[in-house]
Amino acid sequence: MSTERTAPAPLSACDEPLAARYDVALLDLDGVVYVGPDPVPDAAENLRKAAKEGLRIGYITNNASRPARVVAEHLASFGLDVIADDVVTSAQAAAKLVAAEFPQRSPVLVVGGEGLTSALEEYGLKPVRSSDSHPVAVVQGFHPDVNWVMLADGAHAINEGAKWYATNLDLTIPTAAGMAPGNGTLVQAIRAAVDVDPIVAGKPETPLLETSIERLGAERPLMIGDRLDSDIEGANAVGIPSLWVATGVHDAHDLARAPKHQRPTYVAAGLGALAEKQPGVTVERGRHTCGGWTAEVVNNAVSVKGEGEPYDGLRAILSAVWAAVDAPAKPVAKAAKNAGRGRRPLPRPAAEPGSIAIDAALHRVGLDS
Ligand SMILES: [Mg+2]
Repeated sequence: MSTERTAPAPLSACDEPLAARYDVALLDLDGVVYVGPDPVPDAAENLRKAAKEGLRIGYITNNASRPARVVAEHLASFGLDVIADDVVTSAQAAAKLVAAEFPQRSPVLVVGGEGLTSALEEYGLKPVRSSDSHPVAVVQGFHPDVNWVMLADGAHAINEGAKWYATNLDLTIPTAAGMAPGNGTLVQAIRAAVDVDPIVAGKPETPLLETSIERLGAERPLMIGDRLDSDIEGANAVGIPSLWVATGVHDAHDLARAPKHQRPTYVAAGLGALAEKQPGVTVERGRHTCGGWTAEVVNNAVSVKGEGEPYDGLRAILSAVWAAVDAPAKPVAKAAKNAGRGRRPLPRPAAEPGSIAIDAALHRVGLDS
């Protein structure tokens, strides 16, 4: 059973290196360890250093196509010290969900590839390839070989009463040639022919992270990722701290626009942050200070003063933007005047995240994007 957890507030301080504070890092792969076919510069070196400090490194992937062993071999080719037990896939998380619901050896229809069949076997289930085998469940995960016959057979089994599980709903999948349709598109194909929604294992849903925490024996886990709507949202949903790194798809503008449930505990340029403390942000009369930088929102733009580390500047900027966006609505002056003549004041919406200009402030602290 999972214990109840609550993630620390966004932009919390950590007064010791992150690698010392936490016992297990749950690392997203693409955008953190590698970007497409290329390793992220210094990632392997930073992870090796963190491991020496006692941090266990876990690798967490929504991609269900490959077994953990094959993912580990791929990661090792980037110079990382990794074995199959360090990797947790959404296929394993989905298999665990099925195993919790149905007896051992139950037939489960696979709409996917080797990553799913090996995960189902690992959890004591019997992967089958046809609805003629009367499957109790359908498990769907990305694999390049998924075809119309498999999708149609999956829909047939679900309509016959089999319970439907999806490893993830990612609409795109990064490939060496660029973005391609992901598992979410194939789930939509089946969804068009059935009347139920699938149970989802992968980020930002909680089963993959819960399974990872359990398999890696984490007591003080730290999620590390590049996507706010997947890695960071998932960490917040499970109630664990998160580190956003700038090496992937989302950037400082995305952070500024992030709704509360997608805001990270820590922000950093990359995995070098594992060896560092994280400074907090202090707030006084609308001024947000981190390190040598102080930011405030004036007329829907962030103004920042000072000098120092660029990421301290980013923390001050984000703190100021989020406070402005979260501020309760105030009546506008004109409406307040009208109220004096017996009309009700119109509530002014809290500042729109997109409407607060941050470009000049980012430039000022040295973070042009
Ligand atoms: Mg990623």
